[in-house]
Amino acid sequence: MTDFQPTDRTRVRRVANRASYDRDTIYSILDDALVAHVAFIAGDAPVVLPMAFVRVGDAVYLHGSTRARMFETIAGGAPICVTVTLLDGLVLARSAFHHSVNYRSVTIHGSGSVVAERDRALTVLRALTEKIASGRWEAVREPNEQEMKATLVVEIPIVEVSAKVRSGDPIDDEDDYALPIWAGSVAIERRYAEPVADARLPGDIEVPEHVRKLTRR
Ligand SMILES: Cc1cc2nc3c(=O)[nH]c(=O)nc-3n(C[C@H](O)[C@H](O)[C@H](O)COP(=O)(O)OP(=O)(O)OC[C@H]3O[C@@H](n4cnc5c(N)ncnc54)[C@H](O)[C@@H]3O)c2cc1C
Repeated sequence: MTDFQPTDRTRVRRVANRASYDRDTIYSILDDALVAHVAFIAGDAPVVLPMAFVRVGDAVYLHGSTRARMFETIAGGAPICVTVTLLDGLVLARSAFHHSVNYRSVTIHGSGSVVAERDRALTVLRALTEKIASGRWEAVREPNEQEMKATLVVEIPIVEVSAKVRSGDPIDDEDDYALPIWAGSVAIERRYAEPVADARLPGDIEVPEHVRKLTRR
């Protein structure tokens, strides 16, 4: 599979050596993140909303209520921008100016279209559920007709896309390396805590393996 080509809209200008248009890099960031921030113009002002999302093949998918303003807007093919951010660490420099963060991020420019066919929409909802916890779809009740009717699934093809990745040490001014100030990085690790049973769960239902393994991974 070929990598993506930078366009006028996706060309990173500042610290461009951190930019990536590599398909594997972009897809691995998208697959590692549960939340995307979706920007669109609502009326005469920009709005950015956080949303769950999933990548399937060469597209990302959002889902939501048929009555949500965002879906009314993007279902009509309005331009949108989807950004995903993974915060990997704090970068503590010798000067205040050079403090930074380590991260992996992806920005997709484009527009969405509604997934009208029920089976495709169901496939996306399954992928989204499985992304949250692999094995969950088989364990739960599938959406019924009423729930499917109330849900819009929107497809955004991954075509105009960029990634930016920062890792490693702070980058200080040469003169500052002699200062007696601690500098370095502190990684941010994501992990799941022990599952807590729903207050209304009957006591004889055990935590299933697909939930237990979230905490172990
Ligand atoms: C967690 C985090 C914190 C950050 N904090 C700061 C900060 O405090 N100050 C700051 O100036 N910058 C910060 N950045 C970097 C910021 O996202 C931009 O990369 C930066 O502002 C430079 O933009 P530009 O002028 O080169 O790009 P622009 O000209 O604004 O953007 C051109 C195109 O480059 C691509 N692009 C730009 N940035 C990214 C990105 N991060 N990921 C993927 N594609 C991108 C997009 O396709 C965009 O449309 C942060 C990034 C992350 C992930």
